[in-house]
Amino acid sequence: MERNIKIDCITLKKLQLGENNIGVSLLTSDNEVLFVMAFGAMKPKSKLFSGVNPFVEASWDLYYDPVKEYYRAKEVVVNNFNQEIQLSLESYYTASLFLEIILKSQGSDGVYPILKQCLYYLSKGENSKTVLIQFLLRVFLEQGLLPSFNSCSNCYTQIEKESLFYPGDYELHCCRCNSSRKALELNPGILRYCINTPTLDFNKALRIGLGQDSLELLKKYLLELIKNYTGGKLLTLNSSNGLI
Ligand SMILES: [Zn+2]
Repeated sequence: MERNIKIDCITLKKLQLGENNIGVSLLTSDNEVLFVMAFGAMKPKSKLFSGVNPFVEASWDLYYDPVKEYYRAKEVVVNNFNQEIQLSLESYYTASLFLEIILKSQGSDGVYPILKQCLYYLSKGENSKTVLIQFLLRVFLEQGLLPSFNSCSNCYTQIEKESLFYPGDYELHCCRCNSSRKALELNPGILRYCINTPTLDFNKALRIGLGQDSLELLKKYLLELIKNYTGGKLLTLNSSNGLI
């Protein structure tokens, strides 16, 4: 393990430890979650003070302490505070949900650039529901967890041949093969959106129209998937009072 590293990170969580110290969880540009001790960072005069808040993008100088077996922060240069996210409750809860999902999964392939883009668009005031849907579709796609949306996973009926499909735990079924009691009904328009948009340039994907009802259904479906994947409850969803 390298003793000294300099790496771009997004702050996921801060935890006060003792009077002046903060433990921060960082998502590195290598898509890993690192726990870092920021000694003295509670003091406003500390050079680490500005980097410890969630959503901050910064370049960190870290030193690995082989005795304590953790990284210590030496210096931090903030590139983007993403403060505008906190101007809207929907954006704030949506961004907080991203951080919770990443903390639970301890990072995953390709998640750093996805998070960076999503925070950027949330801070620009983009529709938080569409940003959430793109976050989840892209995270699943990177990990190979996105179901095939082209056909029923049981009888291979193509999506053009049916008006409704039903999600199981990780796959889709047509109405004849549907055995799950889940009430979610996904139409071919929603499924085509899932096939086509996650590989588009992010800005282009945000401009692809899908009706409000369809967006709401798709959001519900993807949140069910992520709950299965992360092993259950997401605290941010419970505390958002229906704003997500
Ligand atoms: Zn079928």
